[in-house]
Amino acid sequence: MTNIIFLGAPGSGKGTQAAMLSAKSKVPTISTGQSLRKEVEQQSEIGKLAKSYMESGKLVPDKIIIDIIKGRVSKSDCDNGFILDGFPRTTFQAEEFEKILDSLGKKIDHVFNFEIDEETLVKRISGRFSCKGCGAIYNHHFKPPIKNGLCDNCDSTEFEGRSDDNEETVKNRLKIYRESTYPLIQFYQKKNLLVSISSIKGAPLVFEALIEALKSSSKKF
Ligand SMILES: [Zn+2]
Repeated sequence: MTNIIFLGAPGSGKGTQAAMLSAKSKVPTISTGQSLRKEVEQQSEIGKLAKSYMESGKLVPDKIIIDIIKGRVSKSDCDNGFILDGFPRTTFQAEEFEKILDSLGKKIDHVFNFEIDEETLVKRISGRFSCKGCGAIYNHHFKPPIKNGLCDNCDSTEFEGRSDDNEETVKNRLKIYRESTYPLIQFYQKKNLLVSISSIKGAPLVFEALIEALKSSSKKF
């Protein structure tokens, strides 16, 4: 049984890594957003409660988020482990989550922090744009179309989301992320659970590093 938490800024590629590890290890990836949407769709009691906050434009309170995650990790498909992508976000959530796992006879085995320098992150996020014809995703800095202004897939010349000017917005988002995540990183460091992985290289190389880190840990994966 291996229970894993993934930390990483928007654009760090942790979602991709979570999907890759989930496919390899056959344990589910759990994200707050996805679990929340499912409860709302199923019109469960907690889903209805969450929806009432969302409809009035309020943030769904921690208590509800934590209860939803609790319900999710209690399901039988998590018996062999789970990968949490984007939860916990704060030390309060982390502390509450620890109590819940305790009560379920579970614990966290690994916390991976996908690290990447801010300059690369800003380029990754602010450089994104997509083809209006087929939805292919490009990046001004890393993956422009082969012929400038022409989609590689469908020859469309129309694109959307050209956003060179929003670097400041992205920098701000990252600043908020770092401020809220820093205490969380310290929290798991103190528990000797945190392993940092550089996610500056492409997804396959980052995944190799992740698997190495899992293998070299004393716990069986
Ligand atoms: Zn296209």
